[in-house]
Amino acid sequence: MSRYDFSAPRLFLDAPLQVGARVQLEKQQSHYLCNVLRLAAGDAVLVFNGNDGEWRAVLTACGRKAIELNIEQQTRPPEPPNDLHYLFAPLKHARLDYMAQKAVEMGAGRLQPVLTRRTQTERLNLDRLQANAIEAAEQCGILALPTIGEPVRLDAYLERRADGRILVFCDEDAPPVSPLPLLREALRPKGVPCLPTDVLIGPEGGFAPEEREKLLGTPNHVRISLGPRILRADTAAVAVLALVEAIRSE
Ligand code: SAH
Repeated sequence: MSRYDFSAPRLFLDAPLQVGARVQLEKQQSHYLCNVLRLAAGDAVLVFNGNDGEWRAVLTACGRKAIELNIEQQTRPPEPPNDLHYLFAPLKHARLDYMAQKAVEMGAGRLQPVLTRRTQTERLNLDRLQANAIEAAEQCGILALPTIGEPVRLDAYLERRADGRILVFCDEDAPPVSPLPLLREALRPKGVPCLPTDVLIGPEGGFAPEEREKLLGTPNHVRISLGPRILRADTAAVAVLALVEAIRSE
């Protein structure tokens, strides 16, 4: 990712971005810029839409009526999403919000819910997941929005996995040896650029024995421990994605 201005507010806009475009802000975004950040007409913000890179935009007015932004200049070109898919069993609301945001901040390019035997919450609000992904993208400076998959059963997911992707299986029952050499060997054999990666975290109840067996028979997987303590799923997400990002950037 190229450098960017950390201090300017960044906003996701669901609109095409080009020089001279004018974009009307939704109520919530207007409220955020004018009432929360207290910006005024003439102030600049950075905007992105997931496709057209990042742009400097200037507020044309900050009053009671709809707020408009004038798109002035591209500050960064578009960049592709990380080929790093985060597979997770849905959790209850607040933890799921946290986990989705942290996964995006930690580099996940796709959020893929998987339903396992012990998944607590099968009903999932995909709009809320998307809103969390957008909020995290605004915060951490990425320009490609993570994609969000429809929930899929773990079995079905394993059956139709694309060849060539590596599955990082975080197993609370794995022997607690360092995951770094294992990840390095699986993700970057002979030092090649990092292979496309899926990272899997189980539900709060852990994996059922038959799921573990199936996972251990899956081609191109690496089973890792995240240490001798049992982590909550949202903590495990941050830990494993930090390790994978470290290997990717070696
Ligand atoms: N209830 C289970 C723990 C589940 S923790 C038990 O007590 O055994 C939720 C998920 O986080 C796990 O399925 C696993 O994917 C991940 N996880 C938590 N701690 C881990 C560890 N020490 N090593 C590897 N994965 C871990």
